[in-house]
Amino acid sequence: MSALLTTDHLIACPACGVVHQFQNLMPKTQARCQRCETVLYRYHPYWQSQSEALWLAACILFVISNSFPLFMMRTQGMMQELSMLRAVTAFWQGDLYLISALLALNLLLLPLLELVIVGWVLLTLRLQWQAARALLLLRGLQEFKPWGMLEIFMLSTLVALIKLGDLASLVMEIAFFSLSLQIIVIALLNRAFEPFWVWRTLGQLKQTQTPS
Ligand SMILES: [Zn+2]
Repeated sequence: MSALLTTDHLIACPACGVVHQFQNLMPKTQARCQRCETVLYRYHPYWQSQSEALWLAACILFVISNSFPLFMMRTQGMMQELSMLRAVTAFWQGDLYLISALLALNLLLLPLLELVIVGWVLLTLRLQWQAARALLLLRGLQEFKPWGMLEIFMLSTLVALIKLGDLASLVMEIAFFSLSLQIIVIALLNRAFEPFWVWRTLGQLKQTQTPS
């Protein structure tokens, strides 16, 4: 869904473009487009504090996922650790550069970039930093977010695990569980970090910082 075009009083439906007037909502309600029924915004007074808590949890899980092994693999009496970084370097050393680059992008770089930008936006709102920079970063986040495929990686890993079950014994390690949790926490963060409220609050901050 693209960003809503909004001022303090007007909201354009992101799906069909009809312009609506902003109204305060009652608890547990949401505003929908009159024409196409797309949800425009939800009653969400604690989105900022919820997003901050979830962002912090996601950062801790990201560090754990990238610092510890995903699996311990035992085959023919040999034990081997498999971590995300080791998987990326193993493919690179095996001349499978494209797979290595895709893994690095989806496992490390895109999740890190997303956490940095969301963190920057939340800190901007909390500490009243320069809103224009945060707005630019938020626009960038919307551009690259559809390229992130962390969930697909987890699904592929589960399929590979089932297939490998006959050849080697695999033990899931701490990073596997933290990565699973990281995906769930980021999904919750995406829900709490609702675009309508984020854009609106940043826009209001920018207005207070613009010299009249
Ligand atoms: Zn609409």
